Amino acid sequence: MTPKEAIEFAKENGAKMVDLKFCDLLGTWQHFSVPISCLNEESFEEGFGFDGSSMRGWQVIHASDMLVMPDPNTVFMEPFCEQPTISFICNVVDPITKEAYSRDPRYIAQKAEIYLKSTGLADTAYFGPEAEFFIFNDIRFDQNERCGYYFIDSIEGRWNSGREENPNLGYKPRYKEGYFPVPPMDKFQDLRTEMVLEMQKVGVVAECQHHEVATGGQAEIDMRFAPLVKMGDNLMKYKYVIKNVAMRKGFTVTFMPKPIFNDNGSGMHVHQSLWKDGQNLFAGDRYGGLSELAFYYIGGILKHAPALCAFTNPITNSYKRLVPGFEAPVNLAYSSRNRSAAVRIPMYSPSPKEKRVEVRFPDPSCNGYLAFAAMLMAGLDGIENKIHPGEPLDKDIYSLTPEELKGVPSTPGSLEEAIKALEEDYEFLLKGNVFTEDVIEKWIERKRFEASEIQLRPHPWEFALYYDI
Ligand code: GLU
Ligand code: MG
Ligand code: MG
Repeated sequence: MTPKEAIEFAKENGAKMVDLKFCDLLGTWQHFSVPISCLNEESFEEGFGFDGSSMRGWQVIHASDMLVMPDPNTVFMEPFCEQPTISFICNVVDPITKEAYSRDPRYIAQKAEIYLKSTGLADTAYFGPEAEFFIFNDIRFDQNERCGYYFIDSIEGRWNSGREENPNLGYKPRYKEGYFPVPPMDKFQDLRTEMVLEMQKVGVVAECQHHEVATGGQAEIDMRFAPLVKMGDNLMKYKYVIKNVAMRKGFTVTFMPKPIFNDNGSGMHVHQSLWKDGQNLFAGDRYGGLSELAFYYIGGILKHAPALCAFTNPITNSYKRLVPGFEAPVNLAYSSRNRSAAVRIPMYSPSPKEKRVEVRFPDPSCNGYLAFAAMLMAGLDGIENKIHPGEPLDKDIYSLTPEELKGVPSTPGSLEEAIKALEEDYEFLLKGNVFTEDVIEKWIERKRFEASEIQLRPHPWEFALYYDI
């Protein structure tokens, strides 16, 4: 869409305001709005100013003025504003030089696509994330007695709404049996459908919605795959729609990977494939119907996995999910059957178009632009250096003895470990200037800060263990 067409679209829809959204370094959408009278064709060249020093991980105070540049291709009508509002996803640039800002995640994703083309290996990288999430009560609505309210079981260590001394256990999914009985066990059919329909309005195609395994109202909505930057945008819209639909109905949603102790966490498996001239380069006659190129891609992902985790599993809570027993991968291996492997080759269809690899360790707390770009860079490094991923591990990895698991590396045990791995292995991210030293340094600094913030605080469970010491 051209700027002119985007303005036309705004007029047709009677827009009174323009909302400008951009993604901060950590993966949260930020926004500000201007009246429709401020939008003209020049706005797409000149941008709109804001103070970048207030954004986590961005400009220092002496160089804080920045511009957002609306991308006319991303135009959509806002579903959550009372007044008709047109919305754009923006890039961030320096107002003096008009250069793209190195810490703008969307720009990093754009550079990854440019780098892919420059290698001549492929022209498109497709991504299909399955971002799981939990639906909880919104405490603001706790005063209202509501039929069918979901309460979390008062099992030791679980979050509890605080008012259920004797909860009604009727029609609640049994422990680890949330996947997926019909209503009335499933309390969220209509809520998830509403999310799917709102997604359609903002241009995100959802292919399936369902309850997930965990008892605490865990859910999943699957989007149709899309190229890297487009999927980065779609993941932002996905979270935005899900949170806002939930809020509208008196619930909140969290994409924290492990909100409930001792139950399944929320992963974000990411399906990936490389295409050239309309052909899927991952289809072939090797194991799982994959090509040799796909194997090298897996080799790159597995080799760089510990460093990748700093982007794909970027919060301290991520490492409470990556433990055995909850369908989250712990061992860095691949398999066509095994859901406990870090990389799975889905076998739903023999069609060459469907051939892809599913990377299972990422979780939905990540910044999609950065996580997808980093995984693509790791996969490409695997192809460029012919990194072989070794033999598949077709057993249930959880049931293997330590002896059998010898030589199979694990995912990092903590955010600190992942940061350390990134510190020691980030050259592959710098190719084509996709990630810059500046971004890597800032990321490490920010993530170390988060890890120490958690480390310094007394934990509630320390009171349970040690109060009477
Ligand atoms: N929730 C599981 C995870 O943390 C995944 C369950 C599934 O296979 O969909 O990765
Ligand atoms: Mg799932
Ligand atoms: Mg999956």
